[in-house]
Amino acid sequence: MIFKHIPVLLNEVLKLLCIKPEGIYIDCTVGEGGHAEAILNVIHPKGFLIGIDCDKSVLEITERRLEKFAGSFKLVHNNFLNITDICSRLNIKAIDGIIFDVGMSSYQIDNPERGFSFSKNGPLDMRMDRSSILTAQSLINNLSCDELAEIFFKYGEERYSRRIASRIVAERNKKPIQTTSDLVTIIKKAIPLRRYRIHPGTRIFQSLRIAVNNELEDLSAAITYGFGLLKKEGRMCIMSFHSLEDRIAKNKFREFKINEQAKIIYKKPLTPTKEELDKNIRSRSAKLRVIEKK
Ligand code: SAH
Repeated sequence: MIFKHIPVLLNEVLKLLCIKPEGIYIDCTVGEGGHAEAILNVIHPKGFLIGIDCDKSVLEITERRLEKFAGSFKLVHNNFLNITDICSRLNIKAIDGIIFDVGMSSYQIDNPERGFSFSKNGPLDMRMDRSSILTAQSLINNLSCDELAEIFFKYGEERYSRRIASRIVAERNKKPIQTTSDLVTIIKKAIPLRRYRIHPGTRIFQSLRIAVNNELEDLSAAITYGFGLLKKEGRMCIMSFHSLEDRIAKNKFREFKINEQAKIIYKKPLTPTKEELDKNIRSRSAKLRVIEKK
């Protein structure tokens, strides 16, 4: 089987989770199961892994990838926000380690139908969980100019938020904005392109994705719930791909430390080595933070 997503910082995660063969672990963002497979290689058959993902379609692939570890894992289609409930339904009271590898997978971004990519034309969807209702298209076509500008500024740190939002409102009054290409064309018309070192769609697409999937609020709450499930000396790894997510991890960990509930393993987040960057360009913005419960 060939998998689209190359797991990021895999060796670092394995080492820092301090995996015990008889331990119980949760992969909150199991995706195609890259990290999960590596963990199961250590814990099967004595330990147990719960793999959660809100994208149902990927779980069929992951189930097949992991079938050699049957009996040692359970895949769950759900939002990681419901982690406490998921554990209690599986009769699991405490865990030895937990990992969040947040954001999109290559499996999602490479499929134009999902609407995550500004470089491939597709519907403006951006839902990680396709059973949820809210899409990027509905936000773009229904929110007020102020609301759109706020999303672009807050979740994309886009300095031309207002200009882009006004342009969107003007264009959608002529005809509904339906595709990723429609949106990219509008963004390009709204801003001074020479000021951009990155693709001008980067920040807008990021902000819409965060809003559609309620990513920051869900991550923040799930860190608290996940930490609550950890045993003493259990570890939590959080891998993030942009500064807003990393800030949440950093602040949450600081809070646990101040309350003397945890010890921070590295003050500065770990980043990929040059060797990993050469092999996997998508690892370039990864940051890994780790704490241990006291
Ligand atoms: N570690 C995986 C890749 C994870 S990519 C691997 O090695 O293959 C991130 C995954 O997290 C995606 O599949 C996405 O659908 C999932 N995800 C993002 N937010 C989520 C949430 N709130 N709840 C559950 N899964 C989520």
